[in-house]
Amino acid sequence: MGVAFGLFLGHAVWVFRSRTAVQIFLPLLVGFTVTQVSTLTTSAYLHRSLAHKAVTFRPGFAFFLRFFLWLTTGVKAREWAAVHRKHHVYTDAAEDPHSPAQVGWIRVQLTNFWMYRRAANDPITVEKWGKDLAPDRWDRLMFDRGPLGLLIATALLSLWLGWWQGPLAFGFHVLSYVTLSGAINAVGHTFGRRPYQNSATNLHWLAGLTSGEGYHNNHHELPTSARFGSKWFDLDAAWWLVKLAERCGLAHIREFKNKPSLA
Ligand SMILES: [Zn+2]
Ligand SMILES: [Zn+2]
Repeated sequence: MGVAFGLFLGHAVWVFRSRTAVQIFLPLLVGFTVTQVSTLTTSAYLHRSLAHKAVTFRPGFAFFLRFFLWLTTGVKAREWAAVHRKHHVYTDAAEDPHSPAQVGWIRVQLTNFWMYRRAANDPITVEKWGKDLAPDRWDRLMFDRGPLGLLIATALLSLWLGWWQGPLAFGFHVLSYVTLSGAINAVGHTFGRRPYQNSATNLHWLAGLTSGEGYHNNHHELPTSARFGSKWFDLDAAWWLVKLAERCGLAHIREFKNKPSLA
C-alpha cells in the first residue's frame, strides 16, 4: 500500500513537474519565435527598406510588416531610422549614438536600449535624420502608440497561452529582442571578421540569430545593398524574405550602378 502510494505520489510529482516544465518551456519557445520574426521584420522593413531605401515594399505588404512591428516592438519607425542613419554617419566617433569604441562593448551590450532611447528622444536627431519619414495617418492613429501595440500583443498571448504564460512569453521576447539588438551594435562592432576597412564585423552566429544583421561589416561597406551576406551559405534571412517578396511582386530591390563585389 505504502509502495503503491509512493509510486502514485512519485508519478503525480513527475506529471506535475513535467507539466510545469512544459508550461514554462512553451512560453519561452513562443517568446523566442516572436523575437525571431520581429528581428526579421526589423531588418527587412525598418533597416533595409526604411533607413537605407535598399528595397521598397508594396504598400499592403509594408502595412503588414508595420503592423507586426507595432505589436511586437513598439518602435516608432522614423525614430529608429533616424538614430540608425546617425550611427552610419558617425560610426564609432563621439557622436555615434551607441559606439563600443567610445564606451566599451559591454556597456553598449547592456545599455543599448537606453542609448537608443536617449538618441530617439532627441528631437534634433529625429528631425535631421528622419525628415523624409513624416508620420502618416496610420502612424498618428496606431503605430506611434507603441505601448498600446505591446499591450494588445501581451493580451493576445495571454488568451492563447494562459494568464501568466502570456506575459512570460512576451517578457522573454522583449528581453531577447533587446539583447540581440544590443549585440548587433556591441558585438558587431568588436568581435569577428573585417573583410572591409570599417569598424563593424561579420559573425555567422550573430547573423543566424538576427536575420543577417550579423554581417555588419559588409553592411557598413555597402549600406544601400539589400543583401548583407555575401556567400550562398550565409545566414541572411531578411535577404531571403526580400527575395521572396520580390518574386511575389511585393518588393522592388534597389539596383546598383556598379554591382557590389562582396568579398
Ligand atoms: Zn554599425
Ligand atoms: Zn544600416
